[in-house]
Amino acid sequence: MFVPTGLWRITSSGLPSSGTRPTVIFNVVALRVRHEREFDSIRTMPARLRHDQIMRSASEQAAIRQDVFHWLDDVFIGHGGYEIHHTVLKSYTWRGERLPLLDTGRGIRNPEEFSSTLTIMSGWKKNQYEDYESDNGWVTYHYRAGEGGDNIKLIRAYENRDPIVYFRAVREGYYLPYYPIYIAENDPAERVVRFPLDEGLAVLGDPTTYSAAQKRYADALVRTRLHQPIFRARVLHAYSGSCTVCELKHSELLDAAHIIPDASEHGVAHVTNGLAMCKIHHAAYDRNLMGITADFEVRINSDLLLEVDGPMLRHGLQEMHGQQIHLPTRRTERPSQDRLAERFEEFAKH
Ligand SMILES: [Zn+2]
Repeated sequence: MFVPTGLWRITSSGLPSSGTRPTVIFNVVALRVRHEREFDSIRTMPARLRHDQIMRSASEQAAIRQDVFHWLDDVFIGHGGYEIHHTVLKSYTWRGERLPLLDTGRGIRNPEEFSSTLTIMSGWKKNQYEDYESDNGWVTYHYRAGEGGDNIKLIRAYENRDPIVYFRAVREGYYLPYYPIYIAENDPAERVVRFPLDEGLAVLGDPTTYSAAQKRYADALVRTRLHQPIFRARVLHAYSGSCTVCELKHSELLDAAHIIPDASEHGVAHVTNGLAMCKIHHAAYDRNLMGITADFEVRINSDLLLEVDGPMLRHGLQEMHGQQIHLPTRRTERPSQDRLAERFEEFAKH
């Protein structure tokens, strides 16, 4: 889709690469609205017209992108923001046609019938291109070697401001999707493109010029968009996708609870500071109605033990008192006993 650059490329002064970072979000919203409208028109188009062409029309490409986002809403957010296996991502279909969303061999998905990139991915092990995410939420993504069509399509996604998906590997074969992503910078000299994991970061502009308030806002965005989903994926995986207290296995009902809250200085988003818990046990743990000792034993608040109520209280909480939590099989992923002890002191005060 062609977008006149003057419509959105309004930049603030003082940016290191002026003229490349979009700073006005309403135009992004306008673009999304436009995509939605095109999606409506394509739905009514006879299927025969679409299959006869090698390159899909701009409006159909836009419609597919929107459909991919809706599909990801379902398979990712609809399942509690759980990591997605590559076979699932390769099973996406558009009007009955299989359209894999990943190209694990190349790291970039450029369908033949698309004029620009659809998705890119980070490798699990550090790959030859050394793509990286910085702590400020910006990703640097390297061109592929050579001058092939992959790079042309990548740059076209930047020029057209086509929304893409960034699949971030959390472990071998499993990904977290970030979408819609807009490539904000193209640097042909370095042979890289750069983009923020959240459009809010694009609006803020250059991280080196943040005010104190902007820095707080950016840090909160990075925590929500980058650290939390990765923490969640790692913790749930460590506990085999079940509550450490009651072994409930529905990912939609599971959280990655912090032992030391993430608001405190040493409340790091590391798996050893986490516990996979169902919503009830997470809430009980956060409110100190339930504690876990450094020896991995569940304790229930003494007042709560004496209460008489329905089966949730009896089976879900009171009967857990004195039970051992279920630990990750990998020792390196087990909860830190020092952190458990520190947190248990809080529980013991109540
Ligand atoms: Zn539970």
